[in-house]
Amino acid sequence: MIEVENKETNSKKVELLEMMTNTSHEQIVFCQDNETGLKAIIAIHDTTLGPALGGTRMWEYNEEKDAVKDVLRLSRGMTFKAAITGLKLGGGKAVILGDAKTQKNEALMRRFGSFVDSLNGKYITAEDVGMSTEDMRFVKMETDYVTGIPIEMGGGGDPSPVTAYGVYMGMKAAAKFKWGSDDLKGKVVLVQGVGHVGENVVKHLTEEGAKVIINDINEDNIKRVCELYNPEVIYGDSLYEASMDIYSPCALGATLNDDTIHKLKCEIVAGAANNQLDDEIKHAEILKDLGILYAPDFLINAGGLINVYSELNSYNREEALAQTTKIYDTTLEIFEKAERESLTTHNAALILAQERINSAKK
Ligand code: NAD
Repeated sequence: MIEVENKETNSKKVELLEMMTNTSHEQIVFCQDNETGLKAIIAIHDTTLGPALGGTRMWEYNEEKDAVKDVLRLSRGMTFKAAITGLKLGGGKAVILGDAKTQKNEALMRRFGSFVDSLNGKYITAEDVGMSTEDMRFVKMETDYVTGIPIEMGGGGDPSPVTAYGVYMGMKAAAKFKWGSDDLKGKVVLVQGVGHVGENVVKHLTEEGAKVIINDINEDNIKRVCELYNPEVIYGDSLYEASMDIYSPCALGATLNDDTIHKLKCEIVAGAANNQLDDEIKHAEILKDLGILYAPDFLINAGGLINVYSELNSYNREEALAQTTKIYDTTLEIFEKAERESLTTHNAALILAQERINSAKK
């Protein structure tokens, strides 16, 4: 029996199959290979709208149950992301357990690719945290069910800049709703995590004249972004108490939690990280009560998914960017729906996504 914590049933420990039932997951595939040392989990949440497309994350989890929990949450989020964006895709995600800096190599990635291939297209992979387009090149040697591959191989390259552009669009929509203008000039924006996506968010904000503060645990990334854009830097967890207009979580999930949320002084939260709300019901309510406008993560970080989706036909960057621009309008629509129906913005987005899935089922 694998035991995982489950917030949705308020039960501390539940069996995996029970949790799959509670989260409506279709399939979970555990992959293991002694020769390469691969240990991976592929979670397919829902394929009503199409094949389950979602990136692969490589991360050194403290415990296996943390990896299970992560992949279940992430894959579910992909279902709603595809649905709200209007893509003919379902939701899935994979995690590889291990240190991406020291344990990743061609053999491991190719073996992972062969596991993806064995699912015959029900799951399509791409890169996520700890992965790059170069890794997808190796995956591609074993399966066609991979996106986010290098441009010279007919792919769209790294989807992160498009993700960042979508986050920027969502952030501007939030500013418009909150302050009546989407001009971010002079606004103080704290970007937590300046990796592939965060760095590009900083770029857009700097170009618009926002006052950017960055935070990261990786010194190299801080140094690179400082050299390029000269932002202010804040170290450690004091970031949550800093004075800012917008908090943009672009690192890992669950940074909006019991410890951080009451410290926040911002008026808007808009970032790239998946699953920013530790508890998606409770913490969305708290943000609403505090008057902090929350731009739902799965809505505004869909640019990368739009970009890799475009690869499934024949990749077109301009079209992908044009569709990503629409995140601005959808975000405004969600804020208006939330206000009209007294919902949290997260719930308003979930309801719209679920309606699309339900109507496809009919
Ligand atoms: P990345 O690995 O390139 O960057 C993550 C950055 O966050 C790194 O610089 C890392 O050092 C930093 N970080 C990690 N833990 C931190 C902490 N506790 N405090 C501060 N900084 C920390 O990943 P990415 O591709 O930029 O993705 C960032 C987030 O956006 C992830 O949650 C990812 O799932 C999500 N996302 C990414 C894409 C995409 O296109 N890459 C698409 C949708 C969502």
